[in-house]
Amino acid sequence: MHFPTDYQNILRRINNINPIEYRNTRNYTEGDISYLSPYISRGVISTKQVVDTLLTKGYDFSASIKFIQQLAWREYFQRAWQFLEDDMFDDIRHRYTGIRHKKMPIALTTASTGIESVDNAIRELYETGYMHNHLRMYTASIACNISKADWLVPSEWMYYHLLDGDLASNTCSWQWIAGNFSSKQYFCNQENINKYTGSKQRHTFLDKAYDELPAMDIPGILSSTTSLQLTTSLPDSKITGVEPSLPLLLYTSYNLDPEWRKDMKANRILLLEPSHFRQHPVSEKVVAFILELAKNIEGLQIFVGEVNKIPGINQFPSIYSKEHPAFKHLPGIKDERDWIFPEVNGFYNSFFSFWKKCEQTLKVKGKIKAELLRA
Ligand SMILES: Cc1cc2nc3c(=O)[nH]c(=O)nc-3n(C[C@H](O)[C@H](O)[C@H](O)COP(=O)(O)OP(=O)(O)OC[C@H]3O[C@@H](n4cnc5c(N)ncnc54)[C@H](O)[C@@H]3O)c2cc1C
Repeated sequence: MHFPTDYQNILRRINNINPIEYRNTRNYTEGDISYLSPYISRGVISTKQVVDTLLTKGYDFSASIKFIQQLAWREYFQRAWQFLEDDMFDDIRHRYTGIRHKKMPIALTTASTGIESVDNAIRELYETGYMHNHLRMYTASIACNISKADWLVPSEWMYYHLLDGDLASNTCSWQWIAGNFSSKQYFCNQENINKYTGSKQRHTFLDKAYDELPAMDIPGILSSTTSLQLTTSLPDSKITGVEPSLPLLLYTSYNLDPEWRKDMKANRILLLEPSHFRQHPVSEKVVAFILELAKNIEGLQIFVGEVNKIPGINQFPSIYSKEHPAFKHLPGIKDERDWIFPEVNGFYNSFFSFWKKCEQTLKVKGKIKAELLRA
């Protein structure tokens, strides 16, 4: 899978979504999925922008509901992060007591679990920075529920490699699979993997009935574990000059929106803070992707350092950034992000209680048919 970085190609990708094909095939690795997550995660486009494009193309809310529901997962996790703040990186709802270690199974890092579809997906992750949602679920389930690792270290490993790395979607999804942010752990067996990935494997450690999986011993292949040493290689700053009489617009690795305050006469700086990347390291591929996406923003200069070290930071008449839980500390005015469901905010214990509220707002606005809500 290739991820173009120029804005026109990204807009074309939104335009190509077929929500009906999506609804029918999305769980299959060959399904008609959107591949939009790297652009949504990096704030190049918003969930609302995607929905608006679908509506402009003539798909109504009812036809697009499954796709909109997936986008709502993104908003659900972002809202959870806004509410939980740093507590999101701790066990959210409860602690699972069956954990045996806080490391990473080596067989996952080396793509040698013996589950062919999972191993191929890990190789693809290293190569492209992308993994299909179902494969992420299988990988996380093997790490947490079969190898009995605490979710944190494996989640950091996956985040490191994902072009779409989104701390909320990633952290909360791992906790969802591990049963810390859901009512039970998620298990997959070989039959399920074969069905959705087109493989025909038998006699693996997952070739079992579902009720056998929770109690099984850790397979030998998963017993070797390692600690991770993940670091980020940041580029050099490229500040050619700032105009202190103009406002400052601060872009981040989660806000690379070329349309944001586009017509404003301002200094534009992409801020890459080492402290952020020390806490949440990403691969060289991810850094390169961020820098390529940044090229869509005219006049953008790159500053690598902490925000208070930006040359002349105290002299600009005003400073703007976009609201984001990772960058609450930035000075100045925070513009609201574009949400599909701006009125549904705060923390919900489960996605389905959140989604119920979203559906209600659509119903109140007459945007989906009542019978669909009952289905
Ligand atoms: C263990 C695990 C870790 C994950 N880590 C991340 C991550 O770091 N960043 C990330 O963007 N997504 C993450 N996801 C969610 C999901 O896998 C990806 O968003 C999806 O695979 C992206 O591919 P797509 O754009 O083709 O999705 P599509 O199926 O086309 O979905 C459309 C959009 O809906 C949203 N979406 C779909 N599924 C989910 C979901 N389960 N959670 C949140 N949003 C969703 C995304 O914005 C996606 O672009 C993770 C899921 C799991 C199970």
